[in-house]
Amino acid sequence: MSKIKEEKINLIAKQEEKFEKFCKILKEYNEKFNLTSITDDEGIYEKHFTDSLKGEEFFPLNAEVIEIGSGGGFPSVPLKIARDDLSFTLLEATEKKCGYLRIVGKELGFENFNVVCGRAEEFGKKAEFREKFDVATARAVARLNVLCEYCLPFVKKGGYFVAYKGDAEEEIKEAEKAVEILGGKIVEIKDFVLSEKSGRRNIIVIRKERETPSEYPRLNGAIKKKPL
Ligand code: SAM
Repeated sequence: MSKIKEEKINLIAKQEEKFEKFCKILKEYNEKFNLTSITDDEGIYEKHFTDSLKGEEFFPLNAEVIEIGSGGGFPSVPLKIARDDLSFTLLEATEKKCGYLRIVGKELGFENFNVVCGRAEEFGKKAEFREKFDVATARAVARLNVLCEYCLPFVKKGGYFVAYKGDAEEEIKEAEKAVEILGGKIVEIKDFVLSEKSGRRNIIVIRKERETPSEYPRLNGAIKKKPL
C-alpha cells in the first residue's frame, strides 16, 4: 500500500473514532444540559452529524470560522472532525453549554478551537471580532433576517455567512432586505433532502460584499422587535 493511501485510511479511522466519542459525550451531557431532543445514535448521526457536514464545501481551506449559538456543537464539531484545517471560534450565550463545548474540544484533541461565552449582538460590535472571520455559520438559532444581523458583522469583506436551515423558501424572501442592508449578497442556496423521513434542508451562502454599517448589530430587543 502507498504511504499516502495508508495515511488517508488512518485519518478516516481516527475521524470515525472521534465521531463515536463525540456521540457519547453529547448523550452524557444532554442529560444535564438539555442539548438536543434527538437521543438515539441513528438520529444523532443523521440529523446532527450528516446534516452538519452537508455544508462542508462552503468552508475554504484554512478558513477562520465563527459559529453563533453552538449549543450541542452543530455544525462546528462535525466540521472540525472532518476538516482539521479549519480554525473555530464558538460563540455561545449559555455558560454551562460553553463548559460542555470546552470539554468536547479537549476530549477530541482539537487545536484552534476556542469557545467564547457571550451574545452575538454584543460581540459583533467588538473591534477584535468585527469583520475578522472568513466564514460565520449558524444552525437553528433564529429566523434568517435576525440571524443575518447576528452573523454578517463578523465576516470580512469577501468572506461568507453559511446559514443552515430547514425548508427556508419563505425565510429567504423575508431576509432579502436584511442581507442587502448588512452588506451581503446571496450567492448560493443548497437545496437537498436529508432523508425521506427528515425532509428538505437549505444551506444559504451569503457573500460579504461591503462593510456592515456601524449601527448594526442593534441591541437584541430592537433586532427581535423590528427585524430588518
Ligand atoms: N446550533 C446548535 C444546533 O444546531 O443544534 C444549537 C441550536 S440551539 C436551538 C440555539 C443556541 O443558540 C442556544 O444554545 C442558545 O443559547 C444560543 N443563542 C441564541 N441566541 C444567541 C445569541 N444572540 N448569541 C449567542 N448565542 C445565542
